[in-house]
Parts: sequence; C-alpha cells; structure tokens
Amino acid sequence: MNLVLFGPPGAGKGTQSKILTENRGMPQLSTGDMLRVAIEAGTPLGLSVKATIANGELVSDETVIGIIAEGYDQPACKDGAVFDGFPRTILQAEALDRMLVERGKKIDLVLELKVDEAVLLSRVEARIKAGGVLRSDDTPETLAHRLEVYYKKTAPLLDFYRGQGKLKSVDGMAPVETVTAQVAAVLDGVLA
Ligand code: AMP
Repeated sequence: MNLVLFGPPGAGKGTQSKILTENRGMPQLSTGDMLRVAIEAGTPLGLSVKATIANGELVSDETVIGIIAEGYDQPACKDGAVFDGFPRTILQAEALDRMLVERGKKIDLVLELKVDEAVLLSRVEARIKAGGVLRSDDTPETLAHRLEVYYKKTAPLLDFYRGQGKLKSVDGMAPVETVTAQVAAVLDGVLA
C-alpha cells in the first residue's frame, strides 16, 4: 500500500509513520528525516538545504522529488511506503503520481491528521519549557512560519486528493494511542 500521511507540522505524522513501520512493516519515507540526515552528514545536499530548513521554508520541489524517487526505488518499498512530509506542493503531488504510474503503482490513501493550530504551538512551547531536545526549526517563531507555509502551499493538496477520491481524515488531537487506533481502522477499511 502507498499511503500519504498528511497534516501540518507537529500533527504527529512522524509518530504515526514509525508506528506503522513497527506494526505493519510499512517503510517510512520522510523527506524531512532524509534531509536532516544529509545535514548531519555534511553532504553537498545537506549543506545546500541547511539554511532553508532552519528558516522554515520549503526546499525546492526538484530536490525532494529526487530524494523521494531514490528512496522509493529501494527494495524495502517494493510493496509500498508511507509518505511522511511529502508531497507538500501541487507540483510534488503531480510528480509523485507520475513516479508511481511509471512504476505501475498508485497512491491508495491520503490520510489527514486534523489538528488545531493553537495546540501545535502550545505543544512546542511545552517542549521548550521542559528543556526537551529541539530541532533547529522547532522554535515558536519558526513553527509559526512553517504553519503559514503549510496553509499557503500544502493545504491546497487536500482538495487535490479529495478530487481524486483518496482523502480520509482522523482526529489528530486525540491521545497517540487513539490516533493509532483510528489510523489502523481506516487502513483496514481500505485494505478490506
Ligand atoms: P518535516 O520534518 O517534514 O517537518 O520537514 C522539515 C523541513 O524539511 C521542512 O520545514 C522543509 O524545510 C523541509 N522539507 C521536508 N519535506 C519537504 C518537502 N516535501 N518539500 C519541501 N521541503 C521539505
């Protein structure tokens, strides 16, 4: 199954992707994780995206489309993958559709984790107060900007996928276990 997990930054896409990998063996393809690995390793790609990510801007479509194709062509993804944080623009969504068609595949489901913006900000603030380890782009200011970018460039994808009849939503505000159970129920319904 090819699943797109959709939602604003901090909605819990990464958490649910990792749970799907653990419980169902579905490989996670997170463009954010891949880019952070490149930054850590100091590769040319990492160096080229470091400032963009720290500022909460989107990396170029060309860059993320390239790394997604590379990731998807690994043997681990032969039965599909969970796309986490990709696509984030209409151009990326169209490129993903084309990439899958070329491989005789398709997106089976786009699952939106619905969350409230004020709660996302307060979660980051709580993590800062607790002295938690933060990403370079996990400050209240940058998160506010990432949310702005999300609503402007990424949220329009909801209509794109609704139009394809692929969009389903779950309540991302519920406790993690509840969200996990809701995600499982939707997936089982699609697979049935
Ligand atoms: P994430 O971990 O998914 O929140 O991604 C962290 C950052 O990586 C984003 O704020 C962007 O700067 C960059 N990024 C990740 N995925 C994409 C994408 N699909 N398109 C553009 N930029 C991305």
